[in-house]
Amino acid sequence: RAKELGRGQFARFAPEMSAVAIRKMALAHDLREAVKKEDELQVWFQPQIDIHHDKIVGFEALMRWEHPEMGFISPTEFIPLAESSSLICDVGHWVLSESVRVAKRWIDEGNPPYEVAVNVSAAQIWQGSIEYEIADILRETGLPPHLLCIELTESLFVDHAEFSVRQTLGKLKALGVTLALDDFGTGYSSLGYLIQLPFDKLKIDRVFVAEAHKSERMQHILKGIIALGKGLGMVIVAEGVETPMELALLKDLDCDQIQGFLYARPAPRDVIIQTTKRAMARQRSAA
Ligand code: C2E
Ligand code: MG
Ligand code: MG
Ligand code: MG
Repeated sequence: RAKELGRGQFARFAPEMSAVAIRKMALAHDLREAVKKEDELQVWFQPQIDIHHDKIVGFEALMRWEHPEMGFISPTEFIPLAESSSLICDVGHWVLSESVRVAKRWIDEGNPPYEVAVNVSAAQIWQGSIEYEIADILRETGLPPHLLCIELTESLFVDHAEFSVRQTLGKLKALGVTLALDDFGTGYSSLGYLIQLPFDKLKIDRVFVAEAHKSERMQHILKGIIALGKGLGMVIVAEGVETPMELALLKDLDCDQIQGFLYARPAPRDVIIQTTKRAMARQRSAA
């Protein structure tokens, strides 16, 4: 950790290193330690709501890291850091097993069977043993496989053989877990190519949601994506829904599920279910 490492250690970094590069190196070091010790890492959860049946579908697991000196570090900063080394596989394993454990505990506490959605980095798929890792976790916890959703992004296909990725995705599906394509619309892959892969869910990136009520053109695009995904048998989730207006539009466009601050921000497992239920009651009485 940076504190124990002390100033002397940082002095050993080459003098021409920028402050950004030094921060990256220090964080990567500290994250490695945090994964070993586990007490600085947490998984928070954000609900996914079925907007036509007004029902909680499940929760996305989102990692949080509370650094002892620097406070909360965003996953948008530390996940890419972990991805640039083999660290992502350790971090990823930790998140998977923790999230699946929580989902099983919710069931054991008498809740309905909520899905848990876990983000998995491309490197974890490429690494070649993710299907065994997930099979082990499911067996150890006893969570029914269909309650685990694996969220992947288009970065899966960057610089990588389509064949081996497709094979791994097939093995995951064979375990009974579901697959979601996250941040849809922000990547570079061709549509024709993505729709041939076995995704069960399409998560539309929040830039589309944010733009749609300002721009009629964007509304057409959003409508088209939803119709296309549904036509192919996928469940459509809109990310980043913040306002009742956005919700109303997504209902009109026949989107299936939403996730966003309108209902709940990500929160720890022992509060998120109650928070979500209260938010749903609030939406109901506002409607
Ligand atoms: P993501 O998977 O697309 O997750 C959704 C992100 O959008 C989350 O940010 C969430 O807090 C945020 N969000 C949700 N609703 C709203 C909203 O209404 N408005 C706005 N402005 N934002 C909203 P978060 O938790 O900071 O995570 C950022 C990204 O970091 C995630 O994007 C995901 O790509 C990555 N990430 C987080 N946890 C993990 C993890 O355990 N493993 C991996 N590989 N990546 C992770
Ligand atoms: Mg996600
Ligand atoms: Mg996303
Ligand atoms: Mg994202």
